[in-house]
Amino acid sequence: MTRAILLIDMDAFYASVEQARRPELAGLPVIVGGSAESRGVVSTASYEARACGVRTAMPTAQAQRLCPRGIFLRVDMKAYVAVSKQLLEIFGRFTDLVEPVSIDEAFLDVTGSRRLFGAPEEIAHQIQERVRDELGLSCSIGIGPTRLLAKVAAELNKPAGLATLRHDDVHGSLRELPVRKLFGIGPVTEERLRSLGLTTIGRLQDVPVELLASAFPTGSAALKELAFGGGDSLVRAGHAPPKTMGHEVTFAEDINDPELLRATLLDLADRAAGDLRRKGYACRTLALKLRDERFHTFGGQRTLPDATSSTKLIYETAAALLGDLHASGCRLRLLGLTLSGLTAEAHQLELDDSWREAACDEAVDRVRAKYGAGALRRAGADLAPYRRRSDPPRANEQRSQT
Ligand SMILES: [Mg+2]
Repeated sequence: MTRAILLIDMDAFYASVEQARRPELAGLPVIVGGSAESRGVVSTASYEARACGVRTAMPTAQAQRLCPRGIFLRVDMKAYVAVSKQLLEIFGRFTDLVEPVSIDEAFLDVTGSRRLFGAPEEIAHQIQERVRDELGLSCSIGIGPTRLLAKVAAELNKPAGLATLRHDDVHGSLRELPVRKLFGIGPVTEERLRSLGLTTIGRLQDVPVELLASAFPTGSAALKELAFGGGDSLVRAGHAPPKTMGHEVTFAEDINDPELLRATLLDLADRAAGDLRRKGYACRTLALKLRDERFHTFGGQRTLPDATSSTKLIYETAAALLGDLHASGCRLRLLGLTLSGLTAEAHQLELDDSWREAACDEAVDRVRAKYGAGALRRAGADLAPYRRRSDPPRANEQRSQT
């Protein structure tokens, strides 16, 4: 039997929660995010604010220029988590198979709910109605026989939309869509596909697998699977992603050398992104923790426009943040990287390995040349140059997952 999977995606979630609990904000451009003074970024903009060009992950200062009459609010995560729980309760009335993907998205398998609640489209309408009447919020729903097709469908008709992709559409309307609509294909992969002339999903379907394999030695089969609607991985009931993943390292000696700090960051980013990919997640927010020689701990965070598990993107974002946070050049005893805003990605591709390995080797070589192989010590076994088992313990490492 064909499965019926729904992906429910809340529209402009944080901003909509604010508008729902403060009716005087209805219809106004509401922008939720960090403050301009602390160089914060936009987390969510209401559709009224988007009309002025405000986008997620844009610096708040820029949003203020684009939308001077915007209502700027701080993130109230406690409130959004509470609403997210209420949403899951509503979804649970229609099926036991609810898999939260992030604070504002969930997969529902309603294959077995049809006799009680009607066709999947009917169930989706009922959910939209309940969410609107009980919480004052709108959501977009995609319906498909696989998680991937449900996810692609949800993007077709936002906000407050409803769209269905069937197996037949894989050979029809899906072919016309750009490859980036397939979740799992990020900007780097998209660019490489474009260089092969593979701009649409149809072209990706038609390209001989040998040709694809020459450009993506490890990912060609996964790319083909995506192009044909994705595998039939099941909705994992009640399975929520962990809240954070990360690593931190305490240096043997306090350091302020930017090159060594960046090399350490690359190592942390590589390990954290590797954890993400192994467990099938992507992240939207990354935070740095720094501790100086006087044990003063400080830090900051950045939010990306799209969820990613790319080592390159995570490292580059973290390195820019480190540049800002460590402008004083003070000596540090600890550096930590935490990834949050985790979402389950059904098809995480590992296509950027060559970049990752090259960059890591390069960073490791730089550190060894300058400080000797014992300058950093790591517990993991996958990056041999940092490891010197015969050394006395010179640095402590912690792995965190909450
Ligand atoms: Mg959303």
